Amino acid sequence: MPLTQLTPHHIAAAIRNVPDFPKPGIQFKDITPVLADAKLFAASIDLLTQNFKPGEVDAVVGIDARGFIFAAAAALKLRAGFIPVRKKGKLPYQTYEQPYDLEYGINTVAIHTDAVHPGSRVLLIDDLLATGGTAAAAAALLEKIGAKVLEINFLIELGFLKGRTKLQGYPVRSVIVY
Ligand code: AMP
Repeated sequence: MPLTQLTPHHIAAAIRNVPDFPKPGIQFKDITPVLADAKLFAASIDLLTQNFKPGEVDAVVGIDARGFIFAAAAALKLRAGFIPVRKKGKLPYQTYEQPYDLEYGINTVAIHTDAVHPGSRVLLIDDLLATGGTAAAAAALLEKIGAKVLEINFLIELGFLKGRTKLQGYPVRSVIVY
């Protein structure tokens, strides 16, 4: 099928649901079949970036680790830079850190203190929005370094977990909502 005719429905059909991974009760959304299909991968990037043209975004920010895949491809398409938000302890230079709550315990994400110039226009991308803690922590880091967050976009949103409520004040878009 020509790329222009591919819709979120075609991407959704390729996402594999893996029950009880990585632990009992989790329905893991496996996006590797989407990545492996050249047209579906390209359509995913087109849909994630559809509100922007090259020159309108200074950097695309991806969240460790699957977010990197989509954000890096989106950055190339938009002729923008790519910036990683990583799990604590992985970035080599000076960082700001932001902890956030998990169901059990806390996680921490980090960004380089000089990742963008203040006022830079950034698009934040991750593969999946669940409870919203990860994306909210990433957005907080971007505020701290003075970035202007244009949109927060996901390939998949688990709507029943209401993660959007943690991202109020930002335009949030998802390609596929379960
Ligand atoms: P949350 O902070 O709860 O919104 O979780 C979002 C992060 O956890 C994303 O980076 C996802 O990659 C990952 N994640 C959470 N739930 C799932 C799931 N059911 N399938 C795949 N990835 C998930």
